[in-house]
Amino acid sequence: MRQWAIQAKAFISDADDCVRGLLVCEISWEKDPATGKHHFVEIPGSERELPCDLALIAIGYRGVEHSPLWSQLGLAIDEKGTVENTNFITSSDRVFAAGDARRGQSLVVWAIAEGREVARVVAGRGVGE
Ligand SMILES: Cc1cc2nc3c(=O)[nH]c(=O)nc-3n(C[C@H](O)[C@H](O)[C@H](O)COP(=O)(O)OP(=O)(O)OC[C@H]3O[C@@H](n4cnc5c(N)ncnc54)[C@H](O)[C@@H]3O)c2cc1C
Repeated sequence: MRQWAIQAKAFISDADDCVRGLLVCEISWEKDPATGKHHFVEIPGSERELPCDLALIAIGYRGVEHSPLWSQLGLAIDEKGTVENTNFITSSDRVFAAGDARRGQSLVVWAIAEGREVARVVAGRGVGE
């Protein structure tokens, strides 16, 4: 059985600490009138337990790992979880981003191309001189 538009909120365990179910709720895809952006909204009162004895988590890519270095450098993070930037230049002066950290999950060819491109931007700004 497939179920759509539900969100898992918690695992429910039995007395032996084995999974016995999932606490889920229904969600709807709503437009925020203030921002015009869509996002999932929980439908109040829709929580229920789905019985299960095995849970396989297949939630796909959740964004790049956030290194403590990012906050130490004062980097702003965008809503995709990647380093906010304009033409490779981050929100922190003299810090640049390229590759997966900048564009999200991608390919090696893009990482190489962006590495070259960011080097040109760094050189063009006279950083390190
Ligand atoms: C499972 C998997 C399979 C993939 N398969 C393919 C494929 O078949 N073909 C393809 O084209 N792409 C594939 N990709 C994507 C590809 O690997 C990435 O797009 C690419 O590696 C991104 O390069 P990058 O330089 O941006 O980041 P990364 O390769 O992630 O390099 C970032 C580096 O920074 C280092 N680092 C992080 N924090 C610090 C720190 N504080 N100090 C010092 N170093 C630090 C990390 O250790 C890492 O070495 C795959 C990715 C995954 C996860």
